[in-house]
Amino acid sequence: MQSWPSPPIPGISGTGRQLRLYDSASGEVRPSDPGPTATMYVCGITPYDATHLGHAATYLTFDLVHRMWLDAGHRVHYVQNITDVDDPLLERAQRDGVFWRKLAEREIGLFRDDMTALRVIPPADYIGAVEAMDEITTAVQQLLDSGAAYRVADADYPDVYFDVTSSGHFGYESRYDEPTMLRLSAERGGDPDRPGKRQPLDPLLWRMDRPGEPSWPSPMGRGRPGWHIECAVIASNRLGPTIDLQGGGSDLIFPHHECSAAHAEVLSGKRPFARLYTHAGMIGLDGEKMSKSKGNLVFVSRLLHQGVDPMAMRLGLLSGHYRQDRAWSDEVLITAQERLDRWRKAAVRSGAQAPAVVEAIRDHLADDLDTPAVLAEVDAWAADDTLDGSAVGDAVDALLGVKLT
Ligand code: ZN
Repeated sequence: MQSWPSPPIPGISGTGRQLRLYDSASGEVRPSDPGPTATMYVCGITPYDATHLGHAATYLTFDLVHRMWLDAGHRVHYVQNITDVDDPLLERAQRDGVFWRKLAEREIGLFRDDMTALRVIPPADYIGAVEAMDEITTAVQQLLDSGAAYRVADADYPDVYFDVTSSGHFGYESRYDEPTMLRLSAERGGDPDRPGKRQPLDPLLWRMDRPGEPSWPSPMGRGRPGWHIECAVIASNRLGPTIDLQGGGSDLIFPHHECSAAHAEVLSGKRPFARLYTHAGMIGLDGEKMSKSKGNLVFVSRLLHQGVDPMAMRLGLLSGHYRQDRAWSDEVLITAQERLDRWRKAAVRSGAQAPAVVEAIRDHLADDLDTPAVLAEVDAWAADDTLDGSAVGDAVDALLGVKLT
């Protein structure tokens, strides 16, 4: 799938830092320590609704990771998927009376435009589940052959499930206890109560064809894939069996990242699937989590349409730490716009060079992406009329992705 154009990234002087990030699997902030080519997989959208600020906050988080790795001299191989066939997409298409492929195309187009406006560096591989169908069916068959997968005893729909005990350490990524895993599985698309499964937490790998649903041919019979296997396959077929970072929103910690890691590990025989599992917090509106069920989503495209500067949106989302659940409000946006105006004035002024500011930006970002500390540092620079603008302006562009001039 076509991604979106890359924003230009100015070169800045000095040397990059080793990025440390919080890892959900160990519960610690750890060095990212990639090789010459850093590998990152971030779960993409299910394209049934436009990009809301919660999505944007997640992709901005991993955009900062991307920028920090580039600054430290790594090449970055970044892969993202699009879940372009799944229940929420099909349900929305049915509700709105549109063909599901048309709905997906339209929403993917909007997402590309939003990412372009927000100056997010695109993935090198932007892969839809539908275009990866052959890879996915091969993997499901491999799991069946190895005994890690099985069919439920259901005469009508003998769907294929993954046996979570086959990975040998299921639960290591989220570190949730069983009641929590069961609750989240039920809330987030799993089916712990389905009769005939070996374990309630076993996730779906292949759903046999139902009337009125799209399906693809496979050795298992016509059907469509579960969600977790899609990411396991798209990631490991492009990045190898062990990747530097698996990223996404904190609502993906379980079951999605737990299950996709287990699939990938059983397929490759190598563990862990990712050296770091890093998750971005949720964005709320007026004291409530932003979610489709609450109907309180703030869409990037709508704000753009209203004339909001995407750089102010970016600064507003970066004003809180990426791991914190945090609120969006008109005040957040107004504060961000005022900050952006001050920084833009400062970026064009002449004065004494301030290399220490650039180094401080790097230090704060290297410390688990401490953007509130970066913003305070740049605020102090902007307030000092004796300091020159261009070098700090370039660093803000290259590292924070906020274009000032
Ligand atoms: Zn995923």
